[in-house]
Amino acid sequence: MIIRGAKVWGEKAFVRRDVCTEGIYISSRGGGVVLQRPESYAIPGLIDIHTHGCMGLDYTACSAEDMRAAAEYEASRGVTALCPATLTLPEETLGKACGEIARASSPRGAAIVGINMEGPFISPRRLGAQNPDYVRRPDISLFRALQRASGGMIKLLDIAPELEGAMEVIEEASREAVVSIAHTAAGYEIASEAFARGASHVTHLYNAMPPLHHREPGVVGAAFDAPGVRVELICDGVHVHPSVVRATFRMFGEDRVVMVSDSMMAAGLADGEYELGGMPVRVSDNRAVLVRDGAIAGSVTDLMGCMVTAVKDMGIPLHAAVKCASYNPAAALGISAERGSLEPGRTADIVILDEALNVTDVILRGEHIVVK
Ligand SMILES: [Zn+2]
Repeated sequence: MIIRGAKVWGEKAFVRRDVCTEGIYISSRGGGVVLQRPESYAIPGLIDIHTHGCMGLDYTACSAEDMRAAAEYEASRGVTALCPATLTLPEETLGKACGEIARASSPRGAAIVGINMEGPFISPRRLGAQNPDYVRRPDISLFRALQRASGGMIKLLDIAPELEGAMEVIEEASREAVVSIAHTAAGYEIASEAFARGASHVTHLYNAMPPLHHREPGVVGAAFDAPGVRVELICDGVHVHPSVVRATFRMFGEDRVVMVSDSMMAAGLADGEYELGGMPVRVSDNRAVLVRDGAIAGSVTDLMGCMVTAVKDMGIPLHAAVKCASYNPAAALGISAERGSLEPGRTADIVILDEALNVTDVILRGEHIVVK
């Protein structure tokens, strides 16, 4: 296949050039079908490393077959790789979810490139929408048991670093997964120690943690001061104010921001009553909240929706937004040689956007699955 005429995303800028594919890879030359796409952008498929569900499915409670349907929906939206995220739930439930996710790859769906283990090693003081009944102290043996159940698929492990035993687990687990500071009441010193001991990522910056205060900079300040630490940002227009999104891009730079959806099962569906990890959630006007206490319960916007919101409503340049929704998540997972850009040799996951940033085509592993 040859895509001709589009402005193509490159690491430095958009450049007008052909993009060719051969089999499942991007190639330097190509043949076969020619897609003429002037007035369009060609971008690498987006990679959502933090998502709990969509289309009525919760990844901690669905079968591998359901998970495949969700991955197919995500691919149709231009999200071509995913790390489904777990929640604070009993060990048995988590083990089963990890096993189902590991069996869920679909030829027509987003690739499952890992599991994001969000909970149960979180602070009862910063629950967000997690269930307090199943919060646990950090325990490397539980992480290892779930890692076995998933066949080694857990690529991100979330921890509140102030919990007893957390620093030891951070040191151990960071040898085999990205350790992310999450759902935490930690201040600057503890967070800085966690980064020094191997944590390298922050889960949904600002949400479920103390704010950036000028005398108490907390996790936000510690992450800024720790070179190479990446921060997740939910750009759905609900979780973080547009002004703070802009400030975060200035503060961390476009290399260190990873856009995530944190989407729950209502993504792709209408307002109504839903669940997150078995807890009732009410969705109205693009906002999902726990019925329990009104806590924000994830987003109802997929990563493509977040990326477009960041550009259209928050003033983030398109080039930077694509980087943060594709290249940077690939880099965070250590798979940027395979995904996250449109250079020869990468997996041929390509999304074509029109000038208004609507998805017009999705090429998934070299196959043209969406044509509008
Ligand atoms: Zn989450």
